[in-house]
Amino acid sequence: MTNLILFGPPGSGKGTQADKLKEKYDLLHISTGDLFRFNMKNDTPLGQKAKSYISKGELVPDSVTIDMLRSRVEETPDVQGYIFDGFPRNINQSEHLDKILEKRGSSVTGLLMLEVAEEEIVKRILNRGKTSGRADDNDEGIIRNRFKIYQEETTPVFDYYDKQGKSHKIDGQGSIEEVFERLCTVIDSLKK
Ligand code: AMP
Repeated sequence: MTNLILFGPPGSGKGTQADKLKEKYDLLHISTGDLFRFNMKNDTPLGQKAKSYISKGELVPDSVTIDMLRSRVEETPDVQGYIFDGFPRNINQSEHLDKILEKRGSSVTGLLMLEVAEEEIVKRILNRGKTSGRADDNDEGIIRNRFKIYQEETTPVFDYYDKQGKSHKIDGQGSIEEVFERLCTVIDSLKK
């Protein structure tokens, strides 16, 4: 299997790039943010639990998030691999992801971090907010809180996989095609 973690701050282009990468490498894209939004739209119990955290730009508790991710992986036993987008967001989630993949006799192949500066992030998300319909994309305070949480709680995930020799930094600024090419160059060099 090829299991990629697409990493980076909110608004760094993970979703856009995952859509292109899943086609090229025939992988299943799992975005925990998309799963939460689907559940909120359908007003499921999971969606109701997640809502108050997401609206403030905080992380949804691990007890909810990890079970949701595990179910999605367990219900797709036949795929060649995954692109994880927005997960893991802390060390505990990383340890669980490793265990979930281990049960499949597999592991994380590589983590790809898209680097984009905070001011560019705020600009991009406010722009996306005009059409995304996401409340958390429309308030600069919430956007900056999401970025702060990324720096404080999520960036240690980079170091966690770096210790395993699996983390890679990619310049996330430039055109969609330019960033895609950079990602593909790294992915093609990974040991699979
Ligand atoms: P995203 O679409 O990845 O920016 O996620 C939107 C929101 O969903 C985040 O700001 C969090 O509130 C929540 N969320 C998504 N993924 C996770 C995760 N792995 N752990 C905790 N909360 C998450």
